[in-house]
Amino acid sequence: MNINQNYSNLQDSYLFRTIAQRVSARKAENPGAGIIRLGIGDVTRPLAPAVVDAMGKAVREMGDAATFRGYDDGGVGYDFLRDAIAGYYKSKGVDIGADEIIVSDGAKSDVGNILDIFRPGATVAVPDPVYPVYVDANVMAGNKIVYIDGNEENGFLPSPDLPDGVDIVYICSPNNPTGAAYSREQLRRWTDQALSSGAVILFDAAYESFITDPALPRSIFEIEGARRCAVEICSFSKLAGFTGVRCGYTVVPRELRAGEGKSLLELWKRRQTTKFNGVSYITQRGAEAALSPEGLAQCRENIAYYGENARIIGAALEKLGIRYFGGVNAPYIWLRCPDGVGSWEYFDYLLNEKDIVSTPGAGFGKNGEGFLRLTAFGTRENTEEAAARLG
Ligand code: PLP
Repeated sequence: MNINQNYSNLQDSYLFRTIAQRVSARKAENPGAGIIRLGIGDVTRPLAPAVVDAMGKAVREMGDAATFRGYDDGGVGYDFLRDAIAGYYKSKGVDIGADEIIVSDGAKSDVGNILDIFRPGATVAVPDPVYPVYVDANVMAGNKIVYIDGNEENGFLPSPDLPDGVDIVYICSPNNPTGAAYSREQLRRWTDQALSSGAVILFDAAYESFITDPALPRSIFEIEGARRCAVEICSFSKLAGFTGVRCGYTVVPRELRAGEGKSLLELWKRRQTTKFNGVSYITQRGAEAALSPEGLAQCRENIAYYGENARIIGAALEKLGIRYFGGVNAPYIWLRCPDGVGSWEYFDYLLNEKDIVSTPGAGFGKNGEGFLRLTAFGTRENTEEAAARLG
């Protein structure tokens, strides 16, 4: 039996394991330490009441023979949810057909699985610093990865300066881990580049709901020409706190075609209906409720809560004269480690002297060295305490 040799090329994913080991060591050394976790990008606020009600109702429907449902017919999402997502886009000023939306169990699955529809061995551009899933999924697929540099000079927003022969480009805005968000003009340059080179943009909009500045685009489809060169992947995880519920979706415009003229929408549907059997009815009813006026208002309260956490952390860093990116329009604060210390060194300092868990920037790529990521997803109490400790 032979394994897929590409898996031998994966870098050991030591980042979160090493963090966990160091946190355990700190706890063992100082059992009374009130450790505050601002490392992992997981939400802490409960589901919106409108979502809980809708899911409860759906459970009761499933317990009644008259309303019971089995497989989601086709596995691409119920019409009620696809219509609700299309309506959500409409509220952002973007026209998307419900038939162009394929519902899934989350953005992480889609950013990796979508590679199935592209040529094996494709050349794929990813930003550095990077959400590590883009890299590992492409290593597993045997693709060639080229890195596009994000750094202080470009505000961690790499510009479209791609080498020849790139087939696919990942763009994440607002960005994990840096919190940086592209402007319309910057995204327009990306779509121009993709249209002229024939590359496909995989636009990860998982954090679009954190954008508060109306001048910033919340979808790549706000940009003219994007329908001919981009796929958008999005999630209910951060919008509605669905990290444990699991629901996301991918938008593939009808007119998006591969070189041979094949419709990417048809290929993605084919892929999903072959290897995936859809998201539970209960979850889809919850997601639909999150997009109702009442649900959205409740979800936005949670997002504003995290936004205030980000502001509190940012204010503490400003007082200390520490430079940072993000913190507005994003739940991440990407700070430059003071006095030129390295990512892991500053991580250890915050853990052992302040009992704050962060994520070392070096874990997101070479350009992350010298930076650290803090998340705004903690509780208010912990965030305020962390800000006080930082000071
Ligand atoms: N994309 C980015 C950039 C993320 O940071 C995350 C999760 O943290 C995801 C996708 C995954 O989202 P989901 O929970 O929908 O799988």
